[in-house]
Amino acid sequence: MRPLSTKLAAIAPSATIEITEKARKMQAAGTDVISLSIGEPDFPTPAHITEACIDALRRGETHYAPGKGIPELLKAIAEKIEQENKIPCTPDQVIVGCGAKDSIYEACEAVLSPGDETIILDPSWVSYEPCVQIAGGVPVHHPLNPETFQVDDNLLEKVTKKTRMIIVNTPSNPSGAILNQDSLQLVADICQDHDLIVLSDEIYEKLIYGKTHTSIGAFPGMEDRTITVNGFSKAYAMTGWRLGYAVASKEIIGYMNKVQQHTISHPTTFAMYGGVAALKGPQECIEEMRSEFERRRAFVLKSMDEMGLSYAPADGAFYAYVKVDGNDAEVANRWLEQGHVAVTHGSAFNHPGWVRISYAASMDRLKEAMSRISAVL
Ligand code: PMP
Repeated sequence: MRPLSTKLAAIAPSATIEITEKARKMQAAGTDVISLSIGEPDFPTPAHITEACIDALRRGETHYAPGKGIPELLKAIAEKIEQENKIPCTPDQVIVGCGAKDSIYEACEAVLSPGDETIILDPSWVSYEPCVQIAGGVPVHHPLNPETFQVDDNLLEKVTKKTRMIIVNTPSNPSGAILNQDSLQLVADICQDHDLIVLSDEIYEKLIYGKTHTSIGAFPGMEDRTITVNGFSKAYAMTGWRLGYAVASKEIIGYMNKVQQHTISHPTTFAMYGGVAALKGPQECIEEMRSEFERRRAFVLKSMDEMGLSYAPADGAFYAYVKVDGNDAEVANRWLEQGHVAVTHGSAFNHPGWVRISYAASMDRLKEAMSRISAVL
């Protein structure tokens, strides 16, 4: 048999999924593993969203929909983006995908020609590099400032004639850091000076503790060169719905739609009605979840302080990103095998020496997890 795709042979499987699978296997074998390795809210999807989807099913919304998404959802997203993110947006500048991940992949396909470089700021979410590679682009990694997790001037050194895109993620998975105005302005200036596009992943925008979120797409001159990606998974606890979206110029959205038309067609029709209910319905559910995350965050960070571990600015998302002694993969493995707590090692985010602890777990489980970690530290 001849080898399968050389392009895919070069791509690493998702480390977060692998660790979670290992934890699941241990659980299946009877070990009480506390899984703090995956990025998933532990709350149910708010009932009014689920009900809207069930209503849609009962009404018979079970057929093909318009390719970029149902008009009600495109309109609701455009309104949200204009009002909250201050980015001028009409419904024809929106495309709904199967999760923000799908939108990120389509964006890479839309922008990158073979060999085009994309700058990824580390530590970085696990799927940016593979999305760029699958789209035929070349990932170029650049470290954020190791103390502040902000963008330094030296980012410019990574820009070459082949650079086409920069990916920013604020609040960040894994670090929880929020990019400040200066960082975003620096990226915006570089994009304008060098004719680059920015892909801004803002999926954790609603989960912020004491700071505010800024969208780079709202910066002057960035309107046509920003692809803003967001979704429903984190803000509305809708991970399994596979619903996300991108907002960009009509031209970019048109290219993304070409990918969509020939691959997924569109996200599941009745799921999109849940998306409309999420955006147009009551928003208190977000604050309820956010404030519970904030309570857990305080507890986990206090535990880190007590253990003498330092951590990245945990201003957003639901992760404590913690500096460890020695090899991070070995540390994560020890915590799993001896402490029965699953976390993700920083190397998975191209950032050795750290581990990511998700606090999307109940307070009781977190308390137990912290005492187990402290015992095997
Ligand atoms: N971006 C980041 C930074 C994420 O952490 C995730 C989910 N882990 C995604 C995108 C993808 O989210 P979705 O479920 O909408 O595909």
